[in-house]
Amino acid sequence: MRTTQSLIPTLREDPGEAETVSHRLMLRAGMIRKVAAGIYTYLPLGLRILRKIETIVREEMNRAGAQEVLMPIASPAELWRETGRWDFYGKELVRFKDRHERDFCLGPTHEEVITDLIRREVRSYRQLPLNCYQIQTKFRDEIRPRFGLMRGREFIMKDAYSFDRDEAGARISYQKMYDAYSRIFTRCGLTFRAVEADTGLIGGTSSHEFMVLADTGEETIVYADGGTYAANVERAEVAVPAQASPEAPRPLRKVSTPGARSVEDVTALLNIQPAQLVKTLLYQTPDDLVAVLVRGDHEVNEIKVKKLLGVTALEMADPAKVAAATGAPVGFAGPVGLTVRVIADHAVKALRNVVVGANEADAHYVDANWDRDFQIAQFADLRNARAGDPSPQGDGVLRIARGIEVGHVFMLGTKYSKAMNAAFLDPDGKECLAVMGCYGIGVSRVAAAAIEQHHDAKGILWPAPIAPFHVHLLPLSQSATVSATAQTLYDTLSQAGIEVLWDDRDERAGVKFNDADLIGAPCQVVIGEKGLAQGTVELKERRTGAVKKLAPGDVPVQARELLGLR
Ligand code: ATP
Ligand code: MG
Repeated sequence: MRTTQSLIPTLREDPGEAETVSHRLMLRAGMIRKVAAGIYTYLPLGLRILRKIETIVREEMNRAGAQEVLMPIASPAELWRETGRWDFYGKELVRFKDRHERDFCLGPTHEEVITDLIRREVRSYRQLPLNCYQIQTKFRDEIRPRFGLMRGREFIMKDAYSFDRDEAGARISYQKMYDAYSRIFTRCGLTFRAVEADTGLIGGTSSHEFMVLADTGEETIVYADGGTYAANVERAEVAVPAQASPEAPRPLRKVSTPGARSVEDVTALLNIQPAQLVKTLLYQTPDDLVAVLVRGDHEVNEIKVKKLLGVTALEMADPAKVAAATGAPVGFAGPVGLTVRVIADHAVKALRNVVVGANEADAHYVDANWDRDFQIAQFADLRNARAGDPSPQGDGVLRIARGIEVGHVFMLGTKYSKAMNAAFLDPDGKECLAVMGCYGIGVSRVAAAAIEQHHDAKGILWPAPIAPFHVHLLPLSQSATVSATAQTLYDTLSQAGIEVLWDDRDERAGVKFNDADLIGAPCQVVIGEKGLAQGTVELKERRTGAVKKLAPGDVPVQARELLGLR
């Protein structure tokens, strides 16, 4: 493709709207343009990247035995009412009425639509297993669309749904998708980890998120330094401390702590370590208030709390409720004399003589002990894992990394087939519910995640398999010899199966180099008068900056090698 005939509006300046590297670089490289918050047009370069990713996804899904379908973007409310998600989904689901006043929504995901198809078309166990996928535009009215393609409202997803005769079959389907995802992200040139993920109220270990490792990632993952354990921090289990403190209990005392509300304030004032303090956090559930206790240096994991309590909603109690329950302003809540249900993290059980709020403005208790001064309804794993915690699988200690969730595989069981009665007849003529799995990849998010992982100060460093072009051809003048060599190289490279972006603009060398570094094709071929006088052009690797002087005829073979093409 020739630059003069393409729409590649590169920007010299950083656009003000961009908060992350990938967002900034995709705007500057002329790959995307914003239409509205979280809604983008993909320009030619951006679309080429998406197509590359889609091709890899499609090949691996087909290889794993899944079949491509294409479902509609709009779907009728009736289907969503059958599963209860019309009400449950909340504002992310964009609803609208057609001219006949019938309710519809824009699909944020397609379990309902595919389950409706399968219940109509599948009658017998002989038709199962089945796995259908699509690559399609999704719409979610995200509360905070941000970071360009990373969290859009309209975005491109590959979603797949498997239907099996039984659990055992569903596990095989799940594993096939897990393996396909591993191949997809490897082929995309990404460094990633598959981590155990939260399964909401469904339970079980049958959900993995695929995380591209990048410091800018929104997700926190923990992994064992000595083995294979890896999990989203939302889910990572924390081992129960082996030993209780050997200290003897001391008498309870109330101390004055004027204005000291935070762990930092109280520990500084009383000259103690955060691990000697127990935080009391009040939460509102749909039913009642609950107090959650964790060690001062630990963080409550609200997902674990939700699971323990069996509730779908949980929020911090507002100051009025805190005051009503404790008789004190926020910052001085404590378990002594508290009448709401108190649950505590395992680590609290091991402590003796701790500092807690006194349910009184400007006061704390010192040397409080849980069995003597206050009661705990239940001890459980209620905190986030931290670096240095022992791995729950015994394979070393945990480390923390940041990740971007690019894919998610999930065993659904019969949640949807039951709600929508997707049944089939087994060999004995008995009706059985299909056992399902669902599997998503954020295709447009993969493009952004790749940039977060592969860039430098000058621009993008595309992994060759998803680069918009393999080679950026950079003639440094408009002279007849340079132009003729450019044309020959363009032709021979193209014939060798290499995709070339030919910067045929009458621009200064510096401008061309800057744009080439920004756009990030893995190879640059530089054609200048001086080199040609000696019979050479330069082949430059974008990532390392390493330059080889070659005869033009040698460029295709050498470029293929650099690109890892065989
Ligand atoms: P997140 O926690 O990031 O909101 P999710 O759990 O809602 O993701 P899924 O419903 O599992 O995501 O969707 C499958 C995949 O679609 C995700 O792994 C992610 O890669 C992608 N995805 C989800 N939401 C968005 C979005 N708003 N913009 C771009 N990609 C998204
Ligand atoms: Mg989401």
